[in-house]
Amino acid sequence: DYDVVIVGAGQAGAQTAIALRQLRYQGTVALIGDEAELPYERPPLTKAYLAGEKSFERLLIRPAAFWQEKAVDLRPGCRIDAVDPAARRVTAADGTSIGYRRLVWATGGAARRLDCPGAALAGVHSMRSRADADRLASELPTARQVVVIGGGYIGLEAAAVLVGAGKAVTLIEAQQHVLARMSGTMLARFLEAEHRARGVTLRLGTAVHGIEGRDGTACGVRLASGELVPADLVIVGVGIVPAVAPLLAAGARGSDGVEVDAVCRTSLPDVYAIGDCATHANAFADGARIRLESVQNANDMAGTVARSIAGVAHPYYAVPWFWSNQYDLRLQTVGLAAGHDLAVLRGAIDARSFSVIYLRNGRVVALDCVNATKDYIQGRKLIESGADVRTDLIADSTVALTTCLQ
Ligand code: FAD
Repeated sequence: DYDVVIVGAGQAGAQTAIALRQLRYQGTVALIGDEAELPYERPPLTKAYLAGEKSFERLLIRPAAFWQEKAVDLRPGCRIDAVDPAARRVTAADGTSIGYRRLVWATGGAARRLDCPGAALAGVHSMRSRADADRLASELPTARQVVVIGGGYIGLEAAAVLVGAGKAVTLIEAQQHVLARMSGTMLARFLEAEHRARGVTLRLGTAVHGIEGRDGTACGVRLASGELVPADLVIVGVGIVPAVAPLLAAGARGSDGVEVDAVCRTSLPDVYAIGDCATHANAFADGARIRLESVQNANDMAGTVARSIAGVAHPYYAVPWFWSNQYDLRLQTVGLAAGHDLAVLRGAIDARSFSVIYLRNGRVVALDCVNATKDYIQGRKLIESGADVRTDLIADSTVALTTCLQ
């Protein structure tokens, strides 16, 4: 039994253990995860790792020796199926029961599967884990035509790497533009043009009817229109389903994620939830309850929980940010654009270095920056300040953003 049991040895779980030891927390800590590997970073799975430019060792959050030195009891390959909040115990799939004083639920989510015929055929891949990426990589050498379903970041990143590897790539998106869930149309249109210029075939506003197979293996994607897009390999990137069933079954409040308060406590006693699987009232969304899927959120929530457990509680308060790499484009997003009433272009799209600044009621709420790190850094300060800005100045890229405050 342990003082702290962390379920999920991904970004948020690993960072919780690291932060606890940084805070000189002396209690016993177990980090339990159902994957075989040491905790690693997922972002490169659709970037440098998929491209073969980065080895798995370079994805590790910490080297193996670190966990031993810090007395963090790693338990890989262990899936927790049930939580008993009254007895303060969790039960693993193999029946092992582990007691806790504090439980941190950091399980992320499973890649959402398509609900259509052929979704489970061989050759249909999702991209959530190292195992997913390795399975995909093993089939790549013999694949010529790749269909990516979903125009979110994961789909776009995978398309960029695979077209770069010489594959014929078609990306299918149900909405009228890519990144429909997270960004405005200015960035979307720019990215669409970039992908087309590199040779990706984009099928926007296109619904998938099913995946066709031959001898049990995918051979094409049938569109709602009846057309068949041939495919040797299909990648599905249509979001995640938070892995919260055991917690909800134990009575925790939530549905699409577990609800947590300002210090990441769930409605169960001494049970916290963090990262992709937690919903929280976000200060930068006017207090609306949201679920963020980002390294920033995982790390910052981990810090919040660790401080809470170490007795120096501090509410979660962090400007959301995210990055993506596609081709030679470095995308950086900061803030939350939802509900903006004005989008201003700063810089030149043709020069492939620009930002889209999103405002609400005269204040900057978010920026999408493309090869424009300075805007990202300065824009973040504008978001944090919550102050009114000179909207007549912000479009001028010769004027520093930080000087645009009223
Ligand atoms: P995870 O890192 O997913 O960790 C959860 C762990 O818990 C997993 O190992 C899972 O197997 C395990 N688990 C689940 N259920 C159980 C159980 N019952 N028992 C035991 N273990 C369990 N974010 C960015 O900010 N920038 C990016 O560029 C970016 N790119 C990404 C690219 C890809 C391909 C992916 C998949 C994600 C990317 N993200 C990116 C998102 C980012 O990786 C996640 O937001 C982050 O990993 C969330 O951390 P987490 O700890 O909540 O979940």
